[in-house]
Amino acid sequence: MAQNYFDDEEFRCPCSACRSLPLHVNEDLRELLNLIRVAVGRPLRIAANRCEAHNAAIKGSKGSRHISGHAADISCKDGTIRSSIVGAAISSRLCRGIGVYNKHIHVDVFRLAGEPRTVWSGISK
Ligand SMILES: [Zn+2]
Ligand SMILES: [Zn+2]
Repeated sequence: MAQNYFDDEEFRCPCSACRSLPLHVNEDLRELLNLIRVAVGRPLRIAANRCEAHNAAIKGSKGSRHISGHAADISCKDGTIRSSIVGAAISSRLCRGIGVYNKHIHVDVFRLAGEPRTVWSGISK
């Protein structure tokens, strides 16, 4: 990998309850985020790992790939930057899922065997 733009701590669950637990960083996810970061050409704010309690607290889906450390939400409200993020994610085989939301783009690097790559919209008015 050419350059790493994401510190381990940026992947940590944002809640305070799980601070003492060991931090796991998925290297495929980090590599995908670095590819996107290079394509966008500016710093990206991410929310990646979630503990079970935090996922429940924010009403994340059951079995969310954030819990297993395979997903990150990249903050983005700008259509041009959103386009760069989605384009870079799509062009990488590491990316297995993309969700486009009002204020972030979800990317993940894991699907179950045989499960196709997916893109979904979480945009709401
Ligand atoms: Zn937590
Ligand atoms: Zn997400």
